[in-house]
Amino acid sequence: MRYEAPQTTPEAVALLAGTKGKVHILAGGTDLIVRMKGGFVEPDMVLDIKRIKAMHLIRKTKSGLSIGAAVTCGEMGVHKALKKAWPGVVESANLIGSDQIQGRCTITGNLCNASPAADSIPALIAADARALIAGPKGERLLDVGSLPTGPGKNALKKGELVVSIELPPRDARSADAYLRFTPRTEMDIAVVSAAVNLTIDRQGVITAARVALGAVAPTAIRVPAAEKALLGNKLDAATLAAVGEACSAACKPIDDKRGTVEYRTRVAGVLAKRAAQAAWMRAGGKP
Ligand SMILES: Cc1cc2nc3c(=O)[nH]c(=O)nc-3n(C[C@H](O)[C@H](O)[C@H](O)COP(=O)(O)OP(=O)(O)OC[C@H]3O[C@@H](n4cnc5c(N)ncnc54)[C@H](O)[C@@H]3O)c2cc1C
Repeated sequence: MRYEAPQTTPEAVALLAGTKGKVHILAGGTDLIVRMKGGFVEPDMVLDIKRIKAMHLIRKTKSGLSIGAAVTCGEMGVHKALKKAWPGVVESANLIGSDQIQGRCTITGNLCNASPAADSIPALIAADARALIAGPKGERLLDVGSLPTGPGKNALKKGELVVSIELPPRDARSADAYLRFTPRTEMDIAVVSAAVNLTIDRQGVITAARVALGAVAPTAIRVPAAEKALLGNKLDAATLAAVGEACSAACKPIDDKRGTVEYRTRVAGVLAKRAAQAAWMRAGGKP
């Protein structure tokens, strides 16, 4: 197996373009190395992006905030501007594994690995984030929700890699929240998860809303009916009940030892309501 560690994105793209066979990008390796050791993947080349300095940056851009593909989840947790603007995205990254795992792992790896239960994906969908992708034909932006195409599958074409995750500008009185249910308090993957991103006006009326669920379908899903229930309303009991119902109705989960279809469907509604309340309070909403 060949190992390459380029120092720039163009070098990485050239290496990807010039290599035949199976290539895997190595970010934190907390999924990839486990899969290689288990014999589930046998790459012909591993391309390590950790030496690309630009991919280690969290930057303010004209259009919002950019999180480089090699930024660790631990680094996200101590970045003040990121935490202030996107507390839900950061809390999703800081639920992954443990401190040791977060010292290595990235949200880009979490996204590209495309587990239905991945913690960062619902939060990134609710945030309306985009993945900046580089490849042989140049750069393109893709909605994060379109990147995972099924369990373990993603929409990257041959020779492409994700350079960064782009978060949009933040309006005043906006906030997000992410919650997951796991049987254990940590080192477990979500049985169900929910992310809500809200903007409210001075009266507390919701003027923008995005809602996403994880672990209830082959990929994380957005829930337009829940967003519709929030828009134009305050977060009163009737609105919350409508959000919970819409989220439960959107679930198409599997039945397994970690949770039945009925259980996941019910918990999705409960978590979505709680995430909406957390986002609302953070945005300055008064109960
Ligand atoms: C003990 C343990 C606990 C865990 N707990 C959780 C948890 O609670 N929640 C959770 O969601 N996950 C969990 N995971 C899974 C894993 O830690 C996360 O998915 C993590 O975010 C992966 O990031 P990484 O940087 O390590 O990815 P890597 O392992 O480096 O890569 C993952 C996949 O993405 C591809 N990839 C990485 N970067 C790019 C890129 N820039 N462009 C294109 N493709 C790329 C790789 O080729 C690989 O296929 C856990 C794993 C372990 C070992």
